[in-house]
Amino acid sequence: MDYPGNLFVVAAPSGAGKSSLVKALLELDSHVQPSVSHTTRAPRGQEKHGREYFFVSEPEFDAMVQADAFVEWAYVHNHRYGTSKKAIEERMAQGADVILEIDFQGAIQIKKIFANAITIFILPPSWEELRSRLERRGEDSPEVIELRLKNAAIEVAQVQQFDFVIINELFDRALFDLKAIVHSQRLKFSAQRRARAETFKALHIP
Ligand code: 5GP
Repeated sequence: MDYPGNLFVVAAPSGAGKSSLVKALLELDSHVQPSVSHTTRAPRGQEKHGREYFFVSEPEFDAMVQADAFVEWAYVHNHRYGTSKKAIEERMAQGADVILEIDFQGAIQIKKIFANAITIFILPPSWEELRSRLERRGEDSPEVIELRLKNAAIEVAQVQQFDFVIINELFDRALFDLKAIVHSQRLKFSAQRRARAETFKALHIP
């Protein structure tokens, strides 16, 4: 499938800083739009239906799977999460850049369907730092932290399947890297020809 907009897919182990980086990018760049996923997990804290996620029941999720409504979906930490076709295709067809913040299984599925998708993996600078970030976050019990670290080792082993890697040691540097990846896609020949059609025409470039 080919769309004028870019599809960015960001994956990372829990605690690597994926959500903060994507949030900062969205605040800086209004041409990048987030995709709102569906999940069977319950809302946390201030989360609102339709903003962070569409929170659905297991039967509702099943019905969407049956109706072929998802581009990808996966089990993550015992719950199901999926990117609906509706969440991305319309916006990409209109030329918007869409960013997905999903797990590595979903990212790999997306790359198989959208060969032009730009996949980005965010790594922590070390296992020690990842552990201390999870501990500092104070969201999880020691058992859950151990589980997240075990899962993180499985996730990090997939990094070679991604197009780009950002090591989130210093937040500002990692954000700079993410912005650079997004910007570089807009400088590609096909994107420039679309965005700067008049200039290309004036330069007699077909
Ligand atoms: P959380 O429940 O903490 O918001 O998310 C748990 C994990 O599920 C995160 O790694 C998040 O990126 C991932 N996730 C969120 N939405 C999707 C989705 O639509 N598809 C897939 N495959 N993973 C998702």
